[in-house]
Amino acid sequence: MSLPSQQIIDAMRDMVFVMRVEQNPYRFYYELFNQVAKDVLGFTTATLNQEIEDVNPVTKATVLKNQYMEVVRKQQASAYQDDYFVSSGQKVSESVLTPIITDGIVTHIVAVVRDITAVKYAHEQTLISKKRLELSRQRYKSLFDNNTAPIGYLNLSGELVKMNQALTTLAETIEGEDFSRNLFELLDGDSLAEVRESFYQTSQGKHCSVETDVHTKADHPMHLEIRFIPMRLDYHVHGIYVIIRDLTTEYFAKSALLESEKRFRLIAEHSSDLIQVLDQKQHFSYLSPSHTQRLHYHLDELYQKTFCDITSAAFKAAVQEVLTAISDTPSAVKKEIQLVDALGEARWFECQFESVFDVGVYVHTIVVARDIEERKAYEAELTQLAYQDPLTGLANRRLFNNRLEQIVTQFRREQTSFAVMMLDIDNFKTINDQYGHEVGDAVIVEIARRLQHVLRDVDTVARLGGDEFIILLPALATEAGVYRVIERLEQALQATYRMDDHDLSVGVSIGVVMPTAETCNVKRILNQADRALYEAKRTGKNKTIFHAYDD
Ligand code: GH3
Ligand code: MG
Repeated sequence: MSLPSQQIIDAMRDMVFVMRVEQNPYRFYYELFNQVAKDVLGFTTATLNQEIEDVNPVTKATVLKNQYMEVVRKQQASAYQDDYFVSSGQKVSESVLTPIITDGIVTHIVAVVRDITAVKYAHEQTLISKKRLELSRQRYKSLFDNNTAPIGYLNLSGELVKMNQALTTLAETIEGEDFSRNLFELLDGDSLAEVRESFYQTSQGKHCSVETDVHTKADHPMHLEIRFIPMRLDYHVHGIYVIIRDLTTEYFAKSALLESEKRFRLIAEHSSDLIQVLDQKQHFSYLSPSHTQRLHYHLDELYQKTFCDITSAAFKAAVQEVLTAISDTPSAVKKEIQLVDALGEARWFECQFESVFDVGVYVHTIVVARDIEERKAYEAELTQLAYQDPLTGLANRRLFNNRLEQIVTQFRREQTSFAVMMLDIDNFKTINDQYGHEVGDAVIVEIARRLQHVLRDVDTVARLGGDEFIILLPALATEAGVYRVIERLEQALQATYRMDDHDLSVGVSIGVVMPTAETCNVKRILNQADRALYEAKRTGKNKTIFHAYDD
């Protein structure tokens, strides 16, 4: 085999080194290297004919020498992975060493060093986002299955498609073991018409809640709060989540206290909610035993405190205001607040404060506090899932539209200009067809990473679905500023995508619009960005078209 010429190796995009091998003892000299090696490692003609030890730090030189010795000994090619540092950071490389043998002796070794940092990184990112999605699914499932609040998923006819254990138990209590899986049969009471109306409103995209009374099979009255949450995909409601809360205790506690102390205690002593009676000075005159378990306090200890003492700092003022107001006029107020337990941990509770008056004179306040920590976590998870693209972790279309809506409102008020960019990968189907969906996904993840890397924290990058992305650039004063962003984006997206063993170049078409008229609106902006993108596709792809906004 003859030595590769300088011209050939300069044309290669990986680093190439030709090492001369001297025997007894073995030594390795740089006889030739290409332009990429010069660019990346800063090699110059002064490096030529130097030994490995002269050019590399000791540990690196030892690793390299061992690899070269191995090739000389076995007289066959070998490959290995290694890390190296350049000014822009740590890189991961894959090297293939090939011996050149003349008369049975290895005289040279050709080393081709490929930078696989991007592939490794993209691979890791794909794994991380898959893991994150899986975790998020598991957490979501566990929150659904194990939630003590009854939760179900309804189709648009009101059939319960999924129910957690708590809802199954509730349905059995109301209807018996062979309960129907229809919400309207389950909640068949005086307020059924209102329940139906709320359900209908939710199917139109609103969040609704309604209270209703039902009678159980054993003829006990129950007072329930029904919350409906629409499950939207793109612009359509596909189903409805229902979260039910049993408000029977709060509902009956007050009348029980008024009717007889004994009956009140019977309810309070067996309730898992925190039930309290506050006197005129807001000291506790009754505390249900559940405080010990929920807040880890000894009751004696708690009797020394006031309600505000155990309220988390952020809510003290609001609570004080409620307590003062309801001791003036008989009324009931519901508030979601955090209480602090004996260990200093804050937990979410929904508190109902209700004042009791006797012949026009304020007597005391009853507080029924329900632990809603799990419900809060569940709602946070639902919100998170509803606003995130699972593959890339970017914002999704909904979150993007919300932000754009805000920016448009701000623009109308303060004329702070902004731009919107719509991106679509060119010929992405071909990438999927040639290399498979996994590589396609990795390209999407890598593009998402590059976009985020190039843009500012205040910008919003979202994935619209498929191979489409959209970017919101707020606070960009001039067109020149937009052009600078475009230039940075194009540069970042043009760099080679190294996926597994493939070097891909991926084209991206971009449509940009910078609204100037105060009358602009979200729909029109998206429409115009889409039209600019279409024009970029139609006139040859892999380019950016910047449309001035037309009104
Ligand atoms: P054009 O240059 O006109 O944009 O053509 P294109 O081949 O990129 O096709 P187009 O944008 O119309 O369609 C995008 C394709 O992306 C459709 C679908 O096969 C594929 N796709 C959509 N979502 C995903 C995804 O999550 N992962 C992968 N790997 N492919 C996807
Ligand atoms: Mg495309």
